Amino acid sequence: ASQIASLRTKLDICVKGEAIPDPVMCFSSCGLPEKLVHNLETAGYTMPTPVQMQVISASLSDRSLLVSADTGSGKTVSFLVPIIAHCSRGRSEQCTSKRGPLAIVLAPTRELCLQVEEQAKVLGKGLPFKTALVVGGDPLAQQIYRIENGIELIVGTPGRLIDLLMKHNVDLDDVSVFVLDEVDCLLERGFRDQAMQIFRALSRPQVMMFSATIHSEVEKLSNSMANNMIHISCGNPNR
Ligand code: ADP
Ligand code: MG
Repeated sequence: ASQIASLRTKLDICVKGEAIPDPVMCFSSCGLPEKLVHNLETAGYTMPTPVQMQVISASLSDRSLLVSADTGSGKTVSFLVPIIAHCSRGRSEQCTSKRGPLAIVLAPTRELCLQVEEQAKVLGKGLPFKTALVVGGDPLAQQIYRIENGIELIVGTPGRLIDLLMKHNVDLDDVSVFVLDEVDCLLERGFRDQAMQIFRALSRPQVMMFSATIHSEVEKLSNSMANNMIHISCGNPNR
């Protein structure tokens, strides 16, 4: 246990919470689908970054997380890897006729959603893992059509996703991972109520929240979505 503690100190990972899983030291040692490990290598991601080491391990244990880490520390991959692992497990074990989303990622802007979806496509290549982008600027009908054809992950802005859910009945029963990226920015943009509304439509998902800084509004939101959360902060003086 003290070895893990000094490893975290060395990696500048700070954790708070109960029964926190140990960080993983490489992508190939945590039971990820082979294709996913391959895709990570092809993308040039030979070693997980510190935030990825801790977030991937905690997320694979189905824990809800509140994470703060510097810009550029690799947070996107840290939530996409466990999502893709979860989705490819979920799909291989169940019949393929019903394919409602298994995971939702909310991000504050269209641009950010595009980046997350692009990264998801790269890492999910060759796996039973399809994505739908739900943002303003593209025809809603096209986004609905894509979801209707079967997808695993929805990446969207809260406003547009609410819009779509009001106009079209999407089966959210199987959504078991709910990510809020750049949650401080989501709150600044007044998306709190929309995020809560989407959360309430889900049945007790694993929640992962990412933020540059953790202030009281962020903590309040996290507490209203999950209990027994793990707090992770990496290389961030703002802990
Ligand atoms: P954050 O969301 O924390 O600001 P990003 O997820 O946007 O950071 O990642 C920042 C950059 O780091 C991206 O260009 C991404 O491709 C790269 N990256 C992510 N994970 C790794 C890794 N394990 N090894 C090398 N580069 C990585
Ligand atoms: Mg990010």
